[in-house]
Amino acid sequence: MFRGIANRMSGRVISAPAHIRRLAGLLRPYRGRWWLATLALLLGGAVNLALPQAVRYAIDDAVTARDAAALDRIAWLALAGFAALAVLVFARAYLMSWLGSRVVADLRQRIFEHLLRHPPGFFHEKKSGELVSRLTSDVQMLQYAVGSELSIALRSSLTVLGGMALLIVTSPGLSLTMLALVPPLAVGAVWVGRRIRRRARQVQDLVAEAHSGLEEAVSAIETVQSFGAEPFEARRYGHRVLEAFRVGLQVAVARSGFMAGAQFAAYAAIGAILWLGANQVIADTLSPGDLASFLLYTLMVTGGLVSLAEIWGNLQSAIGATGRIFELLGEVPTIRDAADAAPLPAPRGHVAFQGVSFTYPSRPEVPVLTDVSFEARPGEVVALVGPSGAGKSTIAALVHRFHDPDSGRVLVDGHDLRALRLVDLRRAIGTVHQEPMLFSGTIAENIAYGLDAASPDAIAQAARDACIADFVASLPDGYDTLVGERGVKLSGGQRQRIAIARALLADPRILILDEATSHLDTENEAQVQQALSRLMQGRTTLVIAHRLSTVQRADRILVLDRGRIVEAGSHADLLETGPLYRRLTAAQALVA
Ligand code: ADP
Repeated sequence: MFRGIANRMSGRVISAPAHIRRLAGLLRPYRGRWWLATLALLLGGAVNLALPQAVRYAIDDAVTARDAAALDRIAWLALAGFAALAVLVFARAYLMSWLGSRVVADLRQRIFEHLLRHPPGFFHEKKSGELVSRLTSDVQMLQYAVGSELSIALRSSLTVLGGMALLIVTSPGLSLTMLALVPPLAVGAVWVGRRIRRRARQVQDLVAEAHSGLEEAVSAIETVQSFGAEPFEARRYGHRVLEAFRVGLQVAVARSGFMAGAQFAAYAAIGAILWLGANQVIADTLSPGDLASFLLYTLMVTGGLVSLAEIWGNLQSAIGATGRIFELLGEVPTIRDAADAAPLPAPRGHVAFQGVSFTYPSRPEVPVLTDVSFEARPGEVVALVGPSGAGKSTIAALVHRFHDPDSGRVLVDGHDLRALRLVDLRRAIGTVHQEPMLFSGTIAENIAYGLDAASPDAIAQAARDACIADFVASLPDGYDTLVGERGVKLSGGQRQRIAIARALLADPRILILDEATSHLDTENEAQVQQALSRLMQGRTTLVIAHRLSTVQRADRILVLDRGRIVEAGSHADLLETGPLYRRLTAAQALVA
């Protein structure tokens, strides 16, 4: 049985107490504040529970005894109690909010760091809307839970438990009535709460689904509009939103009914107790002060229960959100360092594929690479050519170890990539993409991207070598010019040269070039080629080649077709012996 529970906890279905334990783990660094908040909570609860006692004294020892001096004393004491309570409430509420915000900030950071460790395949499989919702709405829900609802729940629980204890002390007989009413209420609340949680989770999933459709339509707005598909997209979105609304409504009905029922039960309990207690006062078995304090405790207990019932659904949702967050955090990256991963302190830049076969997990039936073997010695230029979809980019991705091969090995300097530390491997590789990605920030930041300490001189030198320095100098803010959404727009050639400067500065031993298919204007083209030549000097280069000039310069050309290397050799060799290569060059497919 214990194994069953352990299995469930290590698997996807994690029980609510496990979530709460993990949440508590997040609070551990701030235990000092947590205990202070708890202390404020306990003291505040104690003061709160003492107030009805003051009322009892006031009625039995001052009002009934007609002692005005005693009444004054009790009034002053009560005032002091109120003041103490105010201070304690402030401390508790402030500290709890602080903890909620802090835990959420930590969690956000942790989720993002965790996401960044996953290989690209993870992001292809998951819908980004779903991931964004984890980071935004689920985490937000958790903030409310830890910051205020948890504190309300603790306070209410304390009031309920303390109040019940004092009820029993005041009148065991009357308390029996109370106890007969409270436990069924609590059991009912747990049962209904659990059902609401299940449904509430469904609403969130539906909304996430609708959002990912929305994102897709917006990012492909040209396609949507050119096909006149606006009504279709609107209908599809509308259906999803309506479905979320429909299920949301069911949740709302359940939640509202739950609250109404809980309130009715609470008032019925008060009525019953008032009636029974008044009968006891008439029969002289209970003092009027006792009845008053009993009533106040009953109100407190009932109020506590109602507030628990009100936030129960939210807490349940927060537990659902916590579950999803920890589920995400629990997903181990498929590509990660082996426990005994070796460092690669001084890479030489030797790359080898040995009998590599690979299929993408999302399309297991399509073999993308089959038995690919080749070698690139340090300093060599190996060109990959072949029709679109032949597997060239996949080879580049395997060198980065964005995926592991299904069989065979990819080696750098004779080490299987799976035995190397990812950080060293990736540092040994530089990439210049067809359409380089620039991040919003300055040009200097973009050139030094990923490097912790790059001196302005080194950045300027890299820019000169990449033939971009003159252009940067012509900008009013020079290297501090902003690029990206809110900055200057750069041409394809300029972006490429910035990417080349970035690679020059990072100084990797292995270079992966994905040549741009579109032609640049002659001047840009010449500058890019010059920059590339400098960059390739002394490095092993794998180039996904589209230009004749590049393949002519390559030490070796690999011709890929449907995931196999079908021809290999130099340009001159292949023109003689390679029918596919001849066809590709003749059709200008290489130089397109
Ligand atoms: P190339 O770079 O030669 O055009 P790719 O390496 O991009 O070829 O693609 C090789 C094959 O793998 C193609 O059939 C492509 O559809 C498929 N493919 C590429 N990326 C993925 C992916 N992330 N998931 C599934 N299939 C993919």
